Amino acid sequence: MLVKDYRVQFKEALDTLYDEKEIESFFYILLEAFHQIKRVDLALNPTIELDGMQLLQWETVLSQLKDEKPIQYILGETEFYGLPFYVNENTLIPRPETEELVEWIIKDYFVPRNDVSTIRILDIGTGSGCIAISLAKNLPNAEVFALDVSEKALQIAKKNADRNEVKITFLHQSILETIDLGQQFDIIMSNPPYVRNLEKAEINKNVLEYEPHLALFVEDTDALLFYRKITELAQKNLSQNGQLYFEINQYLGKEMVELLEKYHFKNIELRKDIYGNDRMMKGNI
Ligand code: GLN
Repeated sequence: MLVKDYRVQFKEALDTLYDEKEIESFFYILLEAFHQIKRVDLALNPTIELDGMQLLQWETVLSQLKDEKPIQYILGETEFYGLPFYVNENTLIPRPETEELVEWIIKDYFVPRNDVSTIRILDIGTGSGCIAISLAKNLPNAEVFALDVSEKALQIAKKNADRNEVKITFLHQSILETIDLGQQFDIIMSNPPYVRNLEKAEINKNVLEYEPHLALFVEDTDALLFYRKITELAQKNLSQNGQLYFEINQYLGKEMVELLEKYHFKNIELRKDIYGNDRMMKGNI
């Protein structure tokens, strides 16, 4: 079958579930992943064909897309901050908002290569490792530690560190059960679970049914559990002038500022993401 004819069929099969732009982007992502054919190659060679085996491969993916499985999980990888990352059902799919948090830290800490002072960074709840790895890659003087309670997520994070050729010290640990981190850091940062059960109605099927609930949800009655615990640890384990950075629930900006104030953090700054929602903050001790 001609690829260009299959494209029409592929679009029709998905058009009640996704908008046209998204279907187009799935089609070309898959064309490149399976056949190393770029959009422009197809335009230039409209007679490219799919054989029986290839068609079967497309049909398998198509049925997963019909079940609203995220394309990142179907392919087992994605991109974050311009770098490639493996992902699976044990790790969240990195979000563009999180890239903004990474950007903020890099802007705050980037210094030319000849500055020898090391910055010690701890990422709590690292998941795929996307934050820790992109910081390690872009801050040449950083020594990066990444912690997660999920052994399965850490396996992916380790593969991602190797893939991106950075050295990260991984810690398999539950932050809720940690009393003292046992060492000092210049930056402690986290994108912990923050979605309340009451917000489940706003969440799409592709997130709710496929992404790890362990990384997403908190009880309605104690939505800031992780933030409280991490802020408390940061008080003990941040070095002088150390900074704490968080990605946060867009509805809890005010509560988060109050939390950091309660723990005597200074220079607290709340920032919005590209969508205009309160999404990240920092403060120092
Ligand atoms: N931003 C993610 C979402 O909207 C949530 C990430 C988290 O809970 N840390 O699904």
